[in-house]
Order: sequence, then structure tokens, then C-alpha cells
Amino acid sequence: MTDNDVDDRVARGSRNEETRQRNLALMLSSVHSRGSLSRAELTRHSGLNRSTVGFLVAELVELGLVLETEPSAERRVGRPSPVVIPSPDVVAIAINPDVTGLTAGVVGLGGDVRMRETILTPQIMTPEDAVLLTRDFVTRIAAELPDTTRVAGIGVAVPGLVDERTNSIAVAPYLGWRDEAFASMLEEELALPTWLSNDSTLGVIAETHYGAGVGCDNVMYLNGSTSGLGGGVISEGRLMRGAHGFGIELGHILLDRDGAVCPCGRTGCLETVVNVRRIWGAAGRGVIGLDELDALYSSGPGAAVEAELDIQADALAAGIASLACVFGSERVILGGHVGSLLEARGDRIRAEVERQSFGPLGRDLTIVRNGLRERMVHIGAAELAFGTLLNDPAHAPLFHVAELRVGVKR
Ligand SMILES: [Zn+2]
Repeated sequence: MTDNDVDDRVARGSRNEETRQRNLALMLSSVHSRGSLSRAELTRHSGLNRSTVGFLVAELVELGLVLETEPSAERRVGRPSPVVIPSPDVVAIAINPDVTGLTAGVVGLGGDVRMRETILTPQIMTPEDAVLLTRDFVTRIAAELPDTTRVAGIGVAVPGLVDERTNSIAVAPYLGWRDEAFASMLEEELALPTWLSNDSTLGVIAETHYGAGVGCDNVMYLNGSTSGLGGGVISEGRLMRGAHGFGIELGHILLDRDGAVCPCGRTGCLETVVNVRRIWGAAGRGVIGLDELDALYSSGPGAAVEAELDIQADALAAGIASLACVFGSERVILGGHVGSLLEARGDRIRAEVERQSFGPLGRDLTIVRNGLRERMVHIGAAELAFGTLLNDPAHAPLFHVAELRVGVKR
């Protein structure tokens, strides 16, 4: 055998290994995004032959990432094919620090939100506070989850600009955080790999995988929270990240050159008008939770709130009409307080968008409320933590929950 033969075999071996990794990733990603698929469906989706799919599924079962179950009665038509589901033992931890508190959750492979809680903070939290709150949450859930549970890592939804190249927070204006290496802080405390992304970016990812954007390649997403109006865009099936890795900030387009000063430091941004705090002011109350808004709007909230809803509906419509000219989206998904605004003023918003849009760019646009509601940010954050696993199922590290119990520094 010559040196060339050896080189050939090494090259072929690494190509085979690459193909196997890619196919395993394809199988696991399909099961993860669809929740359950029969072997026959996996064969059809992947374009691979039946025996290859059989080997790949067996390997994923061996790795503890999926389970094979008997098909349910209604799926037993013809020759039954075993159904492949994500293993309930594989989870990610999702957290979202925000102005009023830290929301933390446990999300299973397949996007199933297992636990979710909000820890309210009396003052706006510092990054150090957020790390301690996360540590307390992880300690608590590590004691509650079954011993067989394995954790992929932590995904953090950040209400601000995240530099995904350095996994750090550039600025989170409402929290007052600037240049925080927040992922490293959490990794040091919890010994779990941690990823950060902008909360609205994660929202658009979650909605296109599991919510109101499924099957849609050109989606614009706007989310109103106590930290302003964020957004994200999927264009031709790809998430727009921009040159700086910060994604895009749809709430900070100019609405009124003579408008109010925005927390971003500029003047007259869309989010200075489309803003839940103005609703709180019009209602003459302090904080009103996002999940209370629907009930407030449908209960006859009084003239001041009704007038404010009209103002915000018109401003939002102007923003959507402008953005539709830029992105040529086919669907606009509204979450958080703008989802409630759509519920209360849907006809007005749709009519204004159509009136102000440039021809068919507005006419063919469907405007819908987000499908995942309060689960959205967590499903999105968990996607970050599952990313490495979905990309390389055989090699990505998973952490036994028992190790977390001892791994958390006291
Ligand atoms: Zn702004």
C-alpha cells in the first residue's frame, strides 16, 4: 500500500464521519422541531434510505437523545412505523433578566417548557444579582429534576444589544448594563456552557420554529416588553444578524423627529410611542403585567386608555408600513404588549398599514399575534443552549443533573 492509498483512506474516513455527523444532526433537528416523527416520516423528510435512518435513529437512542415508541392508534394505518420522540431527559435552562425580575425556565428537547417562574426584584438587578438568582434557580431545579436528567447548558434572552461574537452584552439600556461579560460570569458560577442573544431575536427564532411563523420564509417580528419594543427579521429563511452581530433594532426606527427622548439616546424612536409604560400612565396605575393587558383592554378600560390605544395603534401601523417597504415581509408577528394591542385594535392597525403601505408590500401582509405567548422567550433561549447538541449530537457535552448539585459554588 502506498502513502497515497493511506491518504485516500483517511480522507474517505473523515468524509464518512462528516456525513454521519451531518445526518445525525439532521435526524435530531427534525425530531426536535417536529416533536415526534415516525421512522417513515424521517425517511421521507431526510431523503435518506430506510436502513440508514434505522442506524441513525438507533445511534440517537443509544446516545439517550431520542426514544422510540409504538405509534398511537390513529397512526396505525397500514404497516406501523415506530414513532421517534425527543428524550424527556435532555433539557436546557433558559433565563431572561428584565426590569421587574428574572424569568427562568427549564425547556426539554422538542421545545416543551417544563418549568417557568419569575423571581421579582425590588430594584433593577445588577448582572451580579442576575447570576445569584440564576444560581438559586439551578440549585432548586437540580434537586427537583429526575436523576436521569442531562442539561445542555444555559441560554439567556437579553433585553439589549448582544455581541454574539464575544458572547457578551454591549448594552442593555433599561437594565443599565454596559459591556458585561455575562456568559463568562454565569459559566464561572455554574460550570455550564452559556449563550446569550437578544430577546426579540430569540422570539423570532422560536416563533418561526414552533409558533405563528411556521412555514414562512419572510417574517417580521415585533415584541413589546417593559424593556421597550424589540424585533427581528427572517428574510428568505435566514435570520438577519447585521454586520456587528447585534441583530437589528426595529423599535428604534424614527417615527417623529420632534418626539420624546428614547432610552437609546436618540429622539422620536417608534418605541417612545409604542410603549407599555404609556399604557400604565393612561390607566393611572403602576406596573401592569403583560398577561393582564388583554383583560384590561376587554373590560372597558376608560377613555384615557382607549385614546392611548388609538395613538399606539396608529404609530405601530406607521412603523409596520415603513418596515414592510424595507423587508418585503409576508407576515408580521406581534408579541408581548403589541400582541395585546393587536387584539384590541386589530382592524385599525390592519387598515392603517394597508393605507400607508407602498402598494402590494402592505396589501399582502398578514399581521398576526404570536403563537407561543409567554413561553416564547424561553423556547428561544433554550434553542441557543441546544444549538451545539443539534449540530453534533454525538460529541456535544451534556451535564448530569447530579453534577450540577455539587457543581454549583456555595
Ligand atoms: Zn431609540
